[in-house]
Amino acid sequence: MSGIDAVAAAQALSEIGYLLRQNPDEKFRARAFSDAAWAIALERPDLAALHESGGLTSLAGVGAGIAKVLTELVETGHSRYLDRLREETGQPARDDESSLDLAEYQGDLHAHTKWSDGRATMLEMAQGAQALGYRYLGVTDHSPRIKVVNGLDAARLLAQSQEMAEVQKQVEGLTLLQGIEVDILEDGALDLPDVVLEILDFVIASPHVKLRQEPEAMTHRMLRAVSHPHVDLIGHPTGRRPGSREGATYDFEAVFKEAARHGVAVEIDCDPARMDLSPEMARLALECGCNFALSSDAHAPNEFAYVPMGAWMARRAGIPQDRILNWRPVEALTKTSK
Ligand SMILES: [Zn+2]
Ligand SMILES: [Zn+2]
Repeated sequence: MSGIDAVAAAQALSEIGYLLRQNPDEKFRARAFSDAAWAIALERPDLAALHESGGLTSLAGVGAGIAKVLTELVETGHSRYLDRLREETGQPARDDESSLDLAEYQGDLHAHTKWSDGRATMLEMAQGAQALGYRYLGVTDHSPRIKVVNGLDAARLLAQSQEMAEVQKQVEGLTLLQGIEVDILEDGALDLPDVVLEILDFVIASPHVKLRQEPEAMTHRMLRAVSHPHVDLIGHPTGRRPGSREGATYDFEAVFKEAARHGVAVEIDCDPARMDLSPEMARLALECGCNFALSSDAHAPNEFAYVPMGAWMARRAGIPQDRILNWRPVEALTKTSK
């Protein structure tokens, strides 16, 4: 028996969910695979033991079909179903995939709290990150433009920093970073003034609205955002939601090259509803010289588990650990901040 651990199994099921999601007719099956992947990434069951006792279907969200895939994964370390989906979508296995040791993942740089549209308090999110053994957590709520999510202006960011100082005292071993997920406006300007962005520990700039701009205008918009002196990371760079919403189209190569030139990293957003890059796009960004962040974009503590289930995309893109910010110690992140 070659065996497969829970994290590797979660990645396989998650990749199946992603590939199925490209086909709108497979929406529900895609969701079932992603949900099962999430449950396994959260609970880390002993799959070999469950298989032995015939108990795979006792796992949350695992019916007969998914159990069959899991059985093959446990017995052979492989899934022919996944291989077939890869072939069908023109993404066969490659021999230059990377390997990532998730036990060495230092911390998540993209998470929301009740300060904007998160469903948990900052303390609950911090304790969730601490329980996972993370060394840091980037608290990156939304900027003011996104009114529906109660985005933060300068005054609320100041209030948030006061709460953070209190929460920090309660989570030994975890460093809280105050960041923002600032909206990239239609012309590429950012939704908060420089004087505010400057004092934050970490700045994610993300496109949220008007994603269907003309490619030329969108390219200009993204080039301007990655050139901004305070931006550290481009969040979910296309905004695509496979199977339900087309994302932004622009000159990816030009934008990734410019990002690399400015030391701005590119995000792989591991939320299964997002997963807005593709392995090919992530590979292009790698070749353009970009660094990456592997983020959960968590809105509740149980969503931190999106990272282990979504790590397959970085592996498939051949991204080595040393090109991903989350494998660097917190000191390296704060020292290199621009
Ligand atoms: Zn976002
Ligand atoms: Zn977010």
